[in-house]
Amino acid sequence: MKRSLRLEGIAAAPGIAVAIARAIDRKKILVPKLDLERGHVEDEQARLDLAVADARSQIQRSIDSLAKEGQGKQHRNHSMILQTHLLLLGDILLIDATKDMISERQINAEWALSIVTDDIMDQLSSADNEYLAERAEDIGFVSTRVMRNLLGHTEELMGTELKAETECIIVTIDLSPAETAQMVSSPIQGFATEKGTQTSHTAIMAQALGLPAVVGVEGLTEKVNPGDTLIVDGLDGIIIVEPDEETLARYKERAAQWSAIENRLRSTKDEPSVTSDGVEIKLKGNVEFPGEAPFALDYGAQGIGLYRTEFLYLDREVPPTREEQVKTYVSMLRAVAPRPIYFRTFDIGADKMPRCLHMTKARNPALGMRAIRIGLRKNRDLLKDQIKAILIAAREVNVESADIMFPLVSGVKELRELKAMVEECKTELSAEISGFIPTVVKIGCMVELPSAVLLSDILAREADFLSIGTNDLIQYMMAIDRVNDDVAYLYSPFHPSALRALKIIVDAADSAGVPVSLCGGAAGEPMMTPLLVGLGIREMSMAPHSIPFIKAAVRTISYEESRKLAQQALEKTTEDEIQQLAVSFMHGKMDINV
Ligand code: PEP
Ligand code: MG
Repeated sequence: MKRSLRLEGIAAAPGIAVAIARAIDRKKILVPKLDLERGHVEDEQARLDLAVADARSQIQRSIDSLAKEGQGKQHRNHSMILQTHLLLLGDILLIDATKDMISERQINAEWALSIVTDDIMDQLSSADNEYLAERAEDIGFVSTRVMRNLLGHTEELMGTELKAETECIIVTIDLSPAETAQMVSSPIQGFATEKGTQTSHTAIMAQALGLPAVVGVEGLTEKVNPGDTLIVDGLDGIIIVEPDEETLARYKERAAQWSAIENRLRSTKDEPSVTSDGVEIKLKGNVEFPGEAPFALDYGAQGIGLYRTEFLYLDREVPPTREEQVKTYVSMLRAVAPRPIYFRTFDIGADKMPRCLHMTKARNPALGMRAIRIGLRKNRDLLKDQIKAILIAAREVNVESADIMFPLVSGVKELRELKAMVEECKTELSAEISGFIPTVVKIGCMVELPSAVLLSDILAREADFLSIGTNDLIQYMMAIDRVNDDVAYLYSPFHPSALRALKIIVDAADSAGVPVSLCGGAAGEPMMTPLLVGLGIREMSMAPHSIPFIKAAVRTISYEESRKLAQQALEKTTEDEIQQLAVSFMHGKMDINV
């Protein structure tokens, strides 16, 4: 008799996958080794304390969830092991010794922890005693957990670990965006993780690859055994472990219905994206690699509204050279030509920490060195090199337009510095390359910080276009870390504050007479379409697979009705009321339910 265990998580990428579970662990963590600058010992020790405190609450959560599930012998054994791990987190030999190591050798916490752990494990294992060998395993487990917390998302799985020979579903605690990217053209059918949210970059990668994914599933890795049959329901955010015959048959039918809907909608590829009263809404694709561009066009993208260039920096030991960047950008331009493209300069940091830049994880990475901040304050040459590569590549291929947009702009001062940097790059290139005349490249400003919303009238006067990043905008407005599933329940593009922010930005762009597009996850949510159209958005960019759905939504609504709907929505007080309003408005218009 099959268990048919049902686990709930967050629907991160749509679709349904049925395959064998493949569990991935992370024994091979790459430990960054850094000498501390003077006066940083206490900060490092505090970072360690924080990682230990996080580990403590993670373990406690697992203990609580086991207690809720039952009192069987297996549960009790497991709970005892976890209790031991909790005790080890207070162990002088492990944590205090690591702190001493940090101050004695003036090295970073990760390095110190790995030295201390290796020492203890060597001593325990060499005792040739089964009991002590087990304790060594426990120390290893606890240390790995603390290390993972210290590293945030920086630890990448070795490429070979993600290589699958047969169809399978990856089950793990979490995956970084770079790891997810490695799943391209592999037999991996989908994945399920304990951590993550709908707008984390891992989810975004899954959507780009068309892999169903469910994230934020509490206790997942403890409840799934390698080899179990698994259903990943990326539509409703559900994982079924070892489904019974009836469940399996039901899901197979749903999967078939879903692909029939996708095929039906994809056949509208060449139909125009206009409302029933004739307003054109441009739909473009968000991509991370040149290889995705043909798929985006195949889904009907009218261009690339967000090229996340930072993926070129992830999962490698040294940053890409300018030549390599030019080559990659030219192949992206060729794949998209003659359609327009927005190159978003690297948005490194937060949940995308490339090994090659040797950045240590800050206490609050989402509020730290990220995106243009790195280019303006930490490593100007890195950003200048990228801008130059884009300027060179843009001359090589004939496209309607190849423009640059800057992420995470907080105000006009930064935008001016960035524009000056582009000019500096043009001047230097003209001196470097004989006969270099740059093509016209427009400068766009992403609006994804609350400060930028409030300044959008000024930003719109100084930028050539605006692009709204709702993923970050909602993260920063609501103070909800994009990768933290505990607070993911607060994420909603229907939130009244999100709607008001959009209205401010669109009005500012209209007054300044500059185009504004929306490239965050809200663009790919069909129930948001009438609200966005009604608020005056005329261009949206999204995960390519969403384009047919949004086009279907656009074609069934009228601008006039949508405008009235948006007005009504702006008067509502909660996200539930607004969502309900939009859902009733769309009721019966789109047949996309399975
Ligand atoms: C956003 O923040 O909404 C956005 C489009 O950019 P990213 O998801 O890459 O941060
Ligand atoms: Mg963003």
